[in-house]
Amino acid sequence: KELIAKLEATIENIADFPIPGIQFKDISPVFLDPKLYEEVIKDFVQFSKGKVDAVCGIESRGYLFGIAIAVALDVPFILIRKKGKLPPPVISEKYDLEYGSAEIETREGQIKKGQRILIHDDLLATGGTTEAAAKLVEKQGAEVVQFSFLIGLKDLKGDDKLKKFGAEIYHILEY
Ligand code: IMP
Repeated sequence: KELIAKLEATIENIADFPIPGIQFKDISPVFLDPKLYEEVIKDFVQFSKGKVDAVCGIESRGYLFGIAIAVALDVPFILIRKKGKLPPPVISEKYDLEYGSAEIETREGQIKKGQRILIHDDLLATGGTTEAAAKLVEKQGAEVVQFSFLIGLKDLKGDDKLKKFGAEIYHILEY
């Protein structure tokens, strides 16, 4: 509860960025406060301890907490990147955006069959990106058992999109 209050006081809300009508949550002030960062990692680690074999982080802010979570859990960290950033061979997953489509990738062979996976990102909005990440994990024979986010945006109903994976969903903060 104390952590939530501290985060609420730290995360900045910027109206009309990057386009009019969007309330942008800027998490960068969290990294100015190493004690607060440590508390956030502890909280995420407590959620996932003993439950996952690997952590997949979504580019790019999913790396900021994701890699520290994986190191603390003593499990591998796998980068999920936007198309064209990782060298071949890669496994890809296409998904629809509001306008057009996008594609995400992992290096082939980094996710192992049967692994229990935590998918982590900084923020859950519509859930489109995370849903694609979960499909990418499942198509490699691993199981998505948890999702974690620093922030969930309630009104956009991202949780609903993730329900079908049957995994636990955790956000420290909800707006
Ligand atoms: P979704 O696919 O609609 O759930 O969007 C989630 C992705 O967009 C995440 O990777 C976030 O980093 C990014 N994102 C969307 N809105 C915000 C915001 O207000 N602040 C920071 N990142 C955002």
